[in-house]
Amino acid sequence: MQEKAANKSPVFAGIEAGGTKFNCVLATDTNRILASTKIATTTPDITLPQVRDFFREQEKIYGPIQSIGIACFGPVDLDRASTTYGYITSTPKKGWSNQDIAGFFKREFAVNIGFDTDVNGAARGEFVSGAAQNVSDFVYITVGTGVGGGVFVNGSPVHGLVHPELGHMQIPRKRDDEFSGNCPFHGDCVEGLVSGPSIEARWGCTADTLAEHHPAWVLQAHYLALMCVNITLSYSPKLIILGGGVMGQKHLFPLIRQAFQQLMRGYMLPDVPLDQYIIPPGLQDRAGEVGALSLAMMQAD
Ligand code: ADP
Ligand code: ZN
Repeated sequence: MQEKAANKSPVFAGIEAGGTKFNCVLATDTNRILASTKIATTTPDITLPQVRDFFREQEKIYGPIQSIGIACFGPVDLDRASTTYGYITSTPKKGWSNQDIAGFFKREFAVNIGFDTDVNGAARGEFVSGAAQNVSDFVYITVGTGVGGGVFVNGSPVHGLVHPELGHMQIPRKRDDEFSGNCPFHGDCVEGLVSGPSIEARWGCTADTLAEHHPAWVLQAHYLALMCVNITLSYSPKLIILGGGVMGQKHLFPLIRQAFQQLMRGYMLPDVPLDQYIIPPGLQDRAGEVGALSLAMMQAD
């Protein structure tokens, strides 16, 4: 919802920096959006100034930005003590490796910057106003062009050494599965077996065109259930949220829960019905921008 009138409340900028587009929002809080735009991710020299110019224009209308939150594709450096904090580090996306994203906006706007991974941003969105509200420990997974995951423990995202990369978890490939996976690094990691492009490479058509009773989905559910088993055993989350384009296939959820139950073999099953444990996002495609705005608001003086 856009608010046209000039605004007197403090304004925050949220940037959902993705490999395809930068989703930019200006808001007074996570649900009061003043202005938004999407800017194509081309090269840093073009995209970053375009994002800056959008926010500069908005500042003329709504007043100075208080702080900026960035949920960024990566891998990124989240270590505040590091000389490359706020950088995209070694991404396969051409031209974007070793780019100082947080620093660019810090220099341009001279405000506090919140910076996290894109999936931690989406997880934060679900935490502040989606399916994980009041849930201190949960995992958010996106199954789309790639597979990524954000892990919240005690109400905070896990960063650790770098940040979790759940999409590259290694799982056993079915003995009769001859598809070797399409992850450029690992072949048949989770991403290599279940991402949208992987489905396309395996079956020769895009995931959204596969019929509900196509055998692709039982296989897809098996691998996603294996991932959920490993997540459950590793982090003991109270909730696993599965989002992203491929999870638009809602019939996957019962298949995944059924496979999860079978794979766990009664060992440490969650104390809640599985349809309340492995669930879709509450915010759908708004999770990332809500999370980015929330990151910004956390940085406000
Ligand atoms: P991204 O991961 O690039 O942010 P998405 O989460 O939308 O974007 O994921 C895009 C991938 O999801 C593509 O590979 C696309 O084929 C697949 N996809 C999009 N919509 C659907 C759908 N309804 N059913 C199955 N696959 C879908
Ligand atoms: Zn991989």
